[in-house]
Amino acid sequence: MDFSLSPDLEDYRRRVREFVDRELIPLEADRANYDAHENIADATLARVRARVRDAGLWALQMPRRLGGQGLPMVGLAACYEEMNRSIFGPVAFNAAAPDDGNMRVLAQVARPDQQERWLRPIVDGEVRSSFAMTEPHPGSGSDPSMMRTTATLKNGKWVVNGRKWFITGAGVAQHFILIARTSDDARKGLSAFLFDAAQPGWRIERRIPIMGPEEHGGHCELVFEGLEIPDQNRLMEVGDGLKLTQIRLGPARLTHCMRWLGLARRAMAVAVDYVGQRSSFGQKLAEREGVQWLLGEAAMQIEIGRLLTMRAAARLDQGDYARKEISMAKIVVSETLQKVVDTALQLNGARGYSKDTPLEWIYRYARQARLVDGASEVHKMVLARHLMDEGDAYWRWDDADAPRKALVV
Ligand SMILES: Cc1cc2nc3c(=O)[nH]c(=O)nc-3n(C[C@H](O)[C@H](O)[C@H](O)COP(=O)(O)OP(=O)(O)OC[C@H]3O[C@@H](n4cnc5c(N)ncnc54)[C@H](O)[C@@H]3O)c2cc1C
Repeated sequence: MDFSLSPDLEDYRRRVREFVDRELIPLEADRANYDAHENIADATLARVRARVRDAGLWALQMPRRLGGQGLPMVGLAACYEEMNRSIFGPVAFNAAAPDDGNMRVLAQVARPDQQERWLRPIVDGEVRSSFAMTEPHPGSGSDPSMMRTTATLKNGKWVVNGRKWFITGAGVAQHFILIARTSDDARKGLSAFLFDAAQPGWRIERRIPIMGPEEHGGHCELVFEGLEIPDQNRLMEVGDGLKLTQIRLGPARLTHCMRWLGLARRAMAVAVDYVGQRSSFGQKLAEREGVQWLLGEAAMQIEIGRLLTMRAAARLDQGDYARKEISMAKIVVSETLQKVVDTALQLNGARGYSKDTPLEWIYRYARQARLVDGASEVHKMVLARHLMDEGDAYWRWDDADAPRKALVV
C-alpha cells in the first residue's frame, strides 16, 4: 500500500499551493474583489485566470489535446484540495462546479464535432455552462424517474417543454446540458441534450435567493416553452440520459469532496492561528485540553475524508465507477466540512462570526454540501443497497495488479 504522490503530481500540488498562497488568499481581504453575490468579481477573476494560465496550471482535469494538463483523479484530489484553501480557488483554475463536471462528461461522451462546438470554449474559459436536471415539485429531485420535462421529436428537432430549478450558473451560462424525458421506459426514458443560451423557447424565471454565497450565475429556475434542439445536439443515444447523468455525477461528487476538504483545512488553519495567539484566564487557548480535543477531532475527521476521497479517486483511475466509495466520501466530507467550520468559528469567538475571516462565508456555503449531488440520506440508501446486494464481497480490497495511471495526456 503506497499513499505517496508521484513526483509529477506532487509538483503540480506544490505549484497550486504556492499560487493559492501568493495570488489568491491575499485577494480575499479586499471587498473590491467581490461581486454582488460574494464571489470573486469578474475583473479580478480575469486577471487571476491569466496568471493561472501563465503558471501552466489551467484546466488540470482536461486532457492535453483539449488544452488541459491531463491529471488523473488522484492528482486532482491533491490539487483541488490545495486550490480550495482559498474561497476564490476553484473558479480561478477553471475547476469550479458546474463547469468542472460538464467539461469532464463532454470530454468522455461527446462526439469530436460536439466537443469542438460545445466543450472547447468552456475549457478555454470563453463561456460558462450549466447542467439542468432538477425540477420543482412534483418533478425530479433525488429520484430522476420523476422527471416531467419532456423532449418530443418533431421534424428532426426535439421540442422541449417543462421546468427546472436550482440550475447553478444559469444566469451567465452559454452552454447547457439538459436532461429531459423522451419516453416512459423505466431505464431508458431520459435523454441528454445540448443547447445554447441564445436559442429561443426558454427563459430564466428567477434567480433563487439562497443562504450562502453564490457561484457565478446563481441558482436559477428555468422554463421551457417549445425550445427546439436539432437532433445533432443530442448527447449519446436516445434513452441514455440516466447513463450520462451517472457518468457525470460520480466524478463531480468526488471533485466536490476534494474542494470541500480544502475549505475545511482553511477553516482549521484560521482556528489554529487564533488559538495560538489568544489567551483566556492566564493560558493560551492552544494549551487548553478542551481546545486541543476540538482541534484533534477536526483534524481526524478531515483525514478520514481525505482517505475516502483518495480511495475513490484511485478506483476511478482504475476504470471503476467507484459508486459506493464516492457515496461514502460524499457523506463524510460534506458533514465534516460543516462540523469543522463550526468548530473553527466557535474557537475564533466573536471574530469567527464577523467578516474579518472567511469562516462565516464557508459556514454559510457549507450547508449546501449535504444536499447537492445527492442528499446524505440518499447516499446511505445507495450504500445499504450495495451491502445487501454484495454480501461479504462488499468488504473486498482493491486488486493489487490493477493498472495505475500516473498522468493522462
Ligand atoms: C446550491 C445548490 C446547487 C444545485 N445545483 C444544481 C444544478 O446545477 N443542476 C441540477 O440539476 N440540480 C442542482 N441542484 C439540485 C440538487 O441536485 C437537489 O437539491 C438534490 O438532488 C436533491 O433533490 P431535491 O432538492 O429535490 O430534494 P428531494 O428529492 O425533495 O428530497 C428532500 C429530502 O428528502 C430526503 N430524502 C430524499 N430521498 C430520500 C430517500 N430515498 N431516503 C431517505 N431520505 C430521502 C433527503 O433528506 C432530502 O434532502 C442544486 C441544489 C443546491 C442546493
